Amino acid sequence: MTSSESVMNTRAVENFCEYLQIPTFHPNVNYEECVAFIKKQAKSLDLPVKVFEVNPGKSVVVITWEGTEPEKSTILLNGHMDVVPAYSEEWTYPPFSAYIDEQENIYARGSQDCKCVTIQQLEAVRRLKLSGIRLKRTIHISLVPDEEVGGYEGMKTFTETQDFKSLNVGFALDEGTASPNEEFSITYGERSLFRIWVHCSGTSGHGSLLFDNTVGDKFVIVLDRFLKFRATEKDKLKNPAVKIGNVTSVNLTMIKGGVQLNVIPKELSAGFDIRLAADVNREEFEQMIRGWCKEAGEGVYYTVVIKDPYVSNTKLDDLFWTAFKQACDNLNIKLNPIIRAGASDSRFLRSMGIPSLGFTPINNTPILMHSYNEFLNKDVFLKGIEIFMKILPEIANV
Ligand code: ZN
Repeated sequence: MTSSESVMNTRAVENFCEYLQIPTFHPNVNYEECVAFIKKQAKSLDLPVKVFEVNPGKSVVVITWEGTEPEKSTILLNGHMDVVPAYSEEWTYPPFSAYIDEQENIYARGSQDCKCVTIQQLEAVRRLKLSGIRLKRTIHISLVPDEEVGGYEGMKTFTETQDFKSLNVGFALDEGTASPNEEFSITYGERSLFRIWVHCSGTSGHGSLLFDNTVGDKFVIVLDRFLKFRATEKDKLKNPAVKIGNVTSVNLTMIKGGVQLNVIPKELSAGFDIRLAADVNREEFEQMIRGWCKEAGEGVYYTVVIKDPYVSNTKLDDLFWTAFKQACDNLNIKLNPIIRAGASDSRFLRSMGIPSLGFTPINNTPILMHSYNEFLNKDVFLKGIEIFMKILPEIANV
């Protein structure tokens, strides 16, 4: 390694740690410090930056590197600024310290999900620029708020604006997931969110009597049907070719109801987090739930909290995919294309017909997104910059 490479690497790690130390965790994230940090990065890259306040206190920041053919559709590199909460008592090092241990593992909330990606992309652009390279297509690096709470007040709102349309995005790279083995995961689709409450109402009364039509009788049928369905989906995972992204997940996540222990309540409700696999017919699925409610008895119904529309997967066959794959082949990188288990901002891009891939260049690392002691090794982080340095010219020169 030359001394200038070593200086670049030190600077990249410092930028990464500085970004990690900004505590953008939910709830009530204050994005100001983060926006100021990104603006500072844009300045050091000598690139224009725009801030769009898409909702009060929720800014989207876009850094633009204009291409030599700016009339062509552009490349969007997206990452989110927010992170999920971290409970210090579970962590070996404070979660916003970016502590680097003897193995050069960098510990911080967001080190994998997904502050690494933004810094790797910015550093890749810095190095490409410094080497005098110009790319054909314009690259926009976007930093969005609120991905970890669904993206509705972040990317979703942004995609509905004229400002987004004027970016003229033709292809997007967004966050992916870490991989515990040699392969790199690439996500090309995700399941759709469906969150509901099932409400059971019945005869209330004294807890010492044995009435008909109580909520308990109905509740047990509701739980039974949902959990039996869950078990069938879980069974499909016994086939190693079937991954979590290919099945529908159902989880009982909340229960509401009751006043005190000697009163039979009038109502009990069960909350379910459901992620629908791509091949599920939405109408038939809801028909099935209505059937279960009917079986459970009178006064059982469901209300929808979130019902994301069906979004088709990004097809791995267009010119951008070919270019992306070519860059990875040149690097001798093995890709593992998967359907994402959770939701990401890519769904809003895909729903507009923009091909979008989720790629976080982390391999040989335990998946610790949303978990405690989330870390990223310094060398894996630096390797990711080199990977983006090869990918960006391929996809921006399509
Ligand atoms: Zn994320």
